[in-house]
Amino acid sequence: MPHKHQLEPGRPFTLADLPTQGKQFFPDRDAAEAEFKALRRELIELQTCLYAENKQKLLIVFQAMDAGGKDGTIRRVFRGVNPQGVRVHSFKVPSKIELAHDYLWRIHKVVPAKGMIGVFNRSHYEDVLVVRVHDIVPESVWRPRYEQINQFEKLLTDTGTAVLKFFLHISPEEQLERFQDRLDEPSKNWKFSLEDLEKRKFWDDYMAAYEEALQQCTTPWAPWHVIPADQKWYRNLTITRTIVHTLKQMNPQYPEPEGDLSGIVID
Ligand code: AMP
Ligand code: MG
Repeated sequence: MPHKHQLEPGRPFTLADLPTQGKQFFPDRDAAEAEFKALRRELIELQTCLYAENKQKLLIVFQAMDAGGKDGTIRRVFRGVNPQGVRVHSFKVPSKIELAHDYLWRIHKVVPAKGMIGVFNRSHYEDVLVVRVHDIVPESVWRPRYEQINQFEKLLTDTGTAVLKFFLHISPEEQLERFQDRLDEPSKNWKFSLEDLEKRKFWDDYMAAYEEALQQCTTPWAPWHVIPADQKWYRNLTITRTIVHTLKQMNPQYPEPEGDLSGIVID
């Protein structure tokens, strides 16, 4: 069931009702890790073929609260994939130049080219999330963005890009534990930011903003997946299942050799 956590267009939901715990869907962690390993091998093979085919593109968007697991997911799921065929882009606070353009400008510039997998660590959705919660622009500016984003993603899918969007859904308790871990573990100190603690105070506002963004921007061409992400092993498994399933549907093919190779002798 690769699309177990996919939202349906037009169907209302509340994030509080959607699980953050993955254990209930797959109680055996060892079996999950074994399947994950096998799926990663499939992903590596499918990506090799997508790259060789050089026709289709896959865009994978990750959104989450701070410490939600975006970096960890990208590190674990794409380990061993040919880096030549994958580009990861992390979207930070926009620069002056980026702010001087429309909000999709910096996004559109880096969507995947033919044969490529593009991975977004945060995305254009920040422009209806952090921007909304902290009143960076007025509602009259951010509200029309849902429709603009839907049209932008339609353009992408109409022109040969499959779009997968994952929201890593963690509980506030899990976030607190991960923040604590970042404080306690010297090698993770660099990930800790006081700003993240400030943003945590707006948890409910963020959930409301996420809820509306996921609702408004779940379209038939680019639906959201809400991934129970408190257990990293379940998160990794279910995301990789969905990516492999999507790549199989894209069904990339190695290109035909140029002419008849059978008579060629290399001496
Ligand atoms: P990190 O992902 O921890 O490196 O943090 C990146 C920061 O950039 C987060 O606090 C995001 O909310 C912020 N950010 C990303 N995109 C935007 C945007 N369009 N407007 C304002 N802040 C943003
Ligand atoms: Mg951070």
